[in-house]
Amino acid sequence: MNPLLTNLVLNEGGCFRCALRFSGELSINNYLSDTSDYSSFLTKTQNPCTLCLGILNPNSYLNYTHNTILSSNYEFNDYKFQVTLPPIVYLRHEWFLGKCKLSGINPIKIIEIKDVFKWIFSPQLGLVLNKKFNVDSDFRINIDFECFDSEEEVKRFYSEFGCRVKESVQTVFKSVNAERLVACFPNVKSFLAEIKVQCSYAPVYIAGNYMKYSRKISQSPWSVEGDAEVKDSVQDCLSRPIVEVFKSSGCILHSSGREDIDVRMLGRGRPFILEITEAKSALSGFNKINDLHSIINSSNEHVKVSLLKKVGREYFEEIRKGEEGKLKVYSCIIWSQKPISQTDMDYLASLPALELQQKTPIRVMHRRSLKTRQKFILKMQGYYINQHFFQLRLVSSGGTYIKEFVHSDFNRTVPSIKKLLGCKMDILQLDVLGLGWNLEEVEDLLTAEIE
Ligand SMILES: [Zn+2]
Repeated sequence: MNPLLTNLVLNEGGCFRCALRFSGELSINNYLSDTSDYSSFLTKTQNPCTLCLGILNPNSYLNYTHNTILSSNYEFNDYKFQVTLPPIVYLRHEWFLGKCKLSGINPIKIIEIKDVFKWIFSPQLGLVLNKKFNVDSDFRINIDFECFDSEEEVKRFYSEFGCRVKESVQTVFKSVNAERLVACFPNVKSFLAEIKVQCSYAPVYIAGNYMKYSRKISQSPWSVEGDAEVKDSVQDCLSRPIVEVFKSSGCILHSSGREDIDVRMLGRGRPFILEITEAKSALSGFNKINDLHSIINSSNEHVKVSLLKKVGREYFEEIRKGEEGKLKVYSCIIWSQKPISQTDMDYLASLPALELQQKTPIRVMHRRSLKTRQKFILKMQGYYINQHFFQLRLVSSGGTYIKEFVHSDFNRTVPSIKKLLGCKMDILQLDVLGLGWNLEEVEDLLTAEIE
């Protein structure tokens, strides 16, 4: 330690931990060593340190922090924290460097307050919480130090040096000389920073595939034209058990495309991300995901999930890409006006990929722009049921209107099943069987036994 520097810190009302910081001390033990020579603020003056404002004296706020975390009712296994410091701390730092310069002292390395704070505070907090610090934890303790008493000093500084409010203290000081800076603050006051503690969980994202076995459940919650009647939705079915597990305020469903309310989602299901907001409890470990799986699937009859996993924000890109680019496999039950036979089924299966021209369907005209979209039917497989009914399974490009491909929508979709088989067709049931990036990935769904 440089004795001149140490004396300067202590004589200017700084604490012994700040003296170590300005000496570039890297040994954590030295920061933790005996402080009995000093008052409760670790300074000669028995006032809060003029450099760290008492922030490096965690004994004074450890209990408060602990109690605040406990009373916030969060459940957590580990934690990380984030610290913010009041602007005055940066100002005082530069002011002290000015003092050093005028005394002919040149601190070679200075340790940041935030670093020392973490070294000395984290082990103490870990001990009282009986939890481990984990830099990857989803549970975050936000520690904000504020100092309202110092606001006037900061304002005075900003007006004295004619800088803009948004400019950082460090940027401004680059152009200020030491004499002017020190002269500006002849009587440096001792302020005590106040601590504000808030806990939060990072948003939790659970990805998976959902299957929807009902034709009465929409994907997202909706009400009928302002009617108070709100139907159940996939989002509601997934949210109800999840909100309980995570003690969260709610969930938002993000999915790779959507199906109409009367369309079931079968087979492998549709990829989704469930965004769990303001969780108060953690999900960690493989078993917990398995638990979640059975909790959701046993909570309702209509919506089931598979392939659940915890993901990060970057997974949204995957879901978005899938929405645009993935092929879809559908199963339809079709009524034909004219009697049909197995020959018709063989004919449909023998067709090469079809290029469709789809004008915006009449049923969605009110919410979609009017244009002709080029879509593809890559492969079809027909199953004869009786003279007037058959099941058709098909693979289409994303965004193809399947109902219109069947009945032609007054010849707005060309070609159509109506045109191919030469008589009036109607679609009675539509189900989605799966999504995939290429034909090979989904082809088996054309023949697979579903349910
Ligand atoms: Zn200090």
